[in-house]
Amino acid sequence: MARPEPPKLTPEASKKDWSISDFEIGRPLGKGKFGCVYLAREIKSRYIVAFKVIFKEQIEKYKLHHQLRREMEIQNALRHPNVLRLYGWFDDSVRIFLILEYAHNGELFKELREAGHFSEKQAATYISSLTQALIYCHENHVIHRDIKLENLLLDNEGSKRHTICGTPDYFVPEMVENKTHDYAVDNWTLGVLCYELLYGVPPFEAKSQRDTFKRIINVDLSFPSTHGVTDEAKDLICKDASLNDSSKRLSLEKILEHPWIVKNAHPEGICPK
Ligand code: ADP
Repeated sequence: MARPEPPKLTPEASKKDWSISDFEIGRPLGKGKFGCVYLAREIKSRYIVAFKVIFKEQIEKYKLHHQLRREMEIQNALRHPNVLRLYGWFDDSVRIFLILEYAHNGELFKELREAGHFSEKQAATYISSLTQALIYCHENHVIHRDIKLENLLLDNEGSKRHTICGTPDYFVPEMVENKTHDYAVDNWTLGVLCYELLYGVPPFEAKSQRDTFKRIINVDLSFPSTHGVTDEAKDLICKDASLNDSSKRLSLEKILEHPWIVKNAHPEGICPK
């Protein structure tokens, strides 16, 4: 179901339309690489948003102007119920402010850590919602490359959103080996994520980053006998996260048709508790 469009925060809202005086700033929601994220409310419409504050000094230090601008433009143009909206942005002399859709239920990472691991129905619902978001992104020529638990945020109904970043556990073999990567990068990561949702730990975890990379390159994947994970779930994981040859990975469309997803995922992405 389409979410109602905020009264004034239209997608066309451009940088010059907003200033800090249009918003009341509330509690911090989290800390990002280059600044903090706060709960905020647009004063006139009373519309609740998340406000990401990025310090220009940091962006200049790491020469990330172009990357940030590109990411902002891409996120601003994407419209999908499972992709977090960026409504607009503005800046002052020292900071850049991103006006983001507020994800009420925070990080999937926290939910997983609290639960230990998810049921097959929960995991399949999350994987299906994320796959739908990725199909939309790929159709719009966007490769996420950076899917990981911390980047997946949850709305009221527990559906899925995503943003930006990178940890070694989620690197794919062709990225570790520095080959050029393509859309199948996101498919690999879906397999890795599926494993972590079901087992509570990432599949290639190791003592050092080097050992994690080694396990990834050797596709050293094993399934512990804990949590009673079904063969159908393992089949999906193997068809995505255990194939060094990216062309053999299950396509996103085929993931949605996989018997484990069909049997377990909630059709509207509402996650069972
Ligand atoms: P960065 O990518 O710069 O590291 P994030 O975008 O991951 O920063 O934001 C840091 C944290 O802030 C997130 O992990 C999350 O807990 C919180 N957060 C970010 N955006 C939102 C949002 N739109 N709604 C709710 N919480 C958010």
